[in-house]
Amino acid sequence: MKYLVTDDSKLARRVLVKALLTYTDEAHIFQATNGLEAVKMTLKERPDIVFLDLTMPEMDGYTALPKLRKINPDIKVVVVSADVQEQAKEKVLALGAKFHIAKPINPQKLKEILESLANE
Ligand SMILES: [Mg+2]
Repeated sequence: MKYLVTDDSKLARRVLVKALLTYTDEAHIFQATNGLEAVKMTLKERPDIVFLDLTMPEMDGYTALPKLRKINPDIKVVVVSADVQEQAKEKVLALGAKFHIAKPINPQKLKEILESLANE
């Protein structure tokens, strides 16, 4: 299983990468700092699960999400965002995200999400 962590915040990426290291090793975790990099990384590394921030420079999460799903229709996108408004949540789920969770992600929530995705 390959994971891609996409966030323009270095701290946010670090927190999520650290949590993911409970489940996998560093070689299976990739990082991107904006939507455009996420698209490039998805083409190159073919991650199974992408964690995607919404507000980012260059290309935001809303724009990147359908592009990621076009590259790989089976890709599992988990939006991790501080924007927890119902409207934002509905929009990303309509675009094909599996989950929309509040930032910062806590380890228990991450565990639940990974288990849920594994059981699909
Ligand atoms: Mg951001």
